[in-house]
Amino acid sequence: MKRCVTLFLTVILSLAAVPFASADGPDGPPSFPIFDDTPTDAWYYADLLYAYHSGLINGKSETRFAPDDPLTYAEAVKLAACMRQLYDGVSFTSRKDAGVWYEPYVNYCKAYGIIAADYPWNQSATRAGYMEIFAAALPDEDLAPINEIPDGAIPDLGGLSASTVSAICKLYRAGIVQGTGDDHACAPYSSIRRCEVTAILSRMMEPEKRIRFTMTAPEHRIETIGGVTYVDGILIANKTYSLPADYAPGGLTAECQAALDALSAGAAADGLSIYPISTYRSYDYQAGLYERYAARDGYAEADRYSARPGHSEHQTGLAVDVNSLDYDFAYTPEGIWLAAHCAEYGFILRYPEGKEAVTGYRYEPWHIRYLGTETAQKVKDSGLTLEEYLGITSVYAD
Ligand SMILES: [Zn+2]
Repeated sequence: MKRCVTLFLTVILSLAAVPFASADGPDGPPSFPIFDDTPTDAWYYADLLYAYHSGLINGKSETRFAPDDPLTYAEAVKLAACMRQLYDGVSFTSRKDAGVWYEPYVNYCKAYGIIAADYPWNQSATRAGYMEIFAAALPDEDLAPINEIPDGAIPDLGGLSASTVSAICKLYRAGIVQGTGDDHACAPYSSIRRCEVTAILSRMMEPEKRIRFTMTAPEHRIETIGGVTYVDGILIANKTYSLPADYAPGGLTAECQAALDALSAGAAADGLSIYPISTYRSYDYQAGLYERYAARDGYAEADRYSARPGHSEHQTGLAVDVNSLDYDFAYTPEGIWLAAHCAEYGFILRYPEGKEAVTGYRYEPWHIRYLGTETAQKVKDSGLTLEEYLGITSVYAD
């Protein structure tokens, strides 16, 4: 990595030499504009000097840096593309496409796997969105962890997708960001400011500038956002924690659907067929289902295998029943494959055998829950149910 970074700096400095030639004469200090709104004792001043001389960031005008202004997603993706091409030591060729100005940068970032999908390009980038893009802007080996940040330690990541949480943790662990306040909160939904962007760019380019800090694992952090419970950032719907009736993603989340498709493809590659038979279920649908089961078997028995409305994991858009609601499914080649491989695709078997007292439900070899590959693998390796892993219960209040 060292050689890589040195080469990178050489590129930056030589690029900076021409446009930022000294205005103080050949013997004077390097020229740097005096921004009226940027005092030399600002916390990001050294980063600004660095990022400015790298040619990555500029003032809004000759005298104004606008440190507190937000950044659009289009600007973020341009920065990511420019940083990556400088890093790789290649020139960016901006083709005169018929489209909008940022289109070449978007295409570049997609080609390099920095982004996978489109963002609302003209809107202000959130801190989470920006971090998601920048966590992929450099190769993994150049964002190696230097900080001990346990899962769930960052206090306010509830409601974010597994891949976004993973990107944010990567930047914390690499010392690129440290959050705000004593608890290192991420404030993922607030707009990112230009001064923060400046610091991130500078730390990404220069490993020496990265911040060393540690965070301790909390007991377990329970957040409630809009009536939805997140434990260590993981959305929970069980007998203890319910969802509001109007929580309605309307289907599997995009991330869960993609993971399910990948799982089916993985099984198919091994000559097996794994397919969904029940995915998203709305509050109202679950209410009807539960009542029908209760009418048939009585409420006590129905509670062992069917969730009351608001308590079904299927309402989250993150749970799937596959192939067959038959216990023998566990012994079929598909059932065996699912148990062995689902974590590789980000899923866990949510209701394992012999854990009814913990999960609140009978064994369901067909019911998988999406958690993202990192978390799913950790839960699997722990040998615990999700309730045990998160230190929570699954019991109806009444
Ligand atoms: Zn299910």
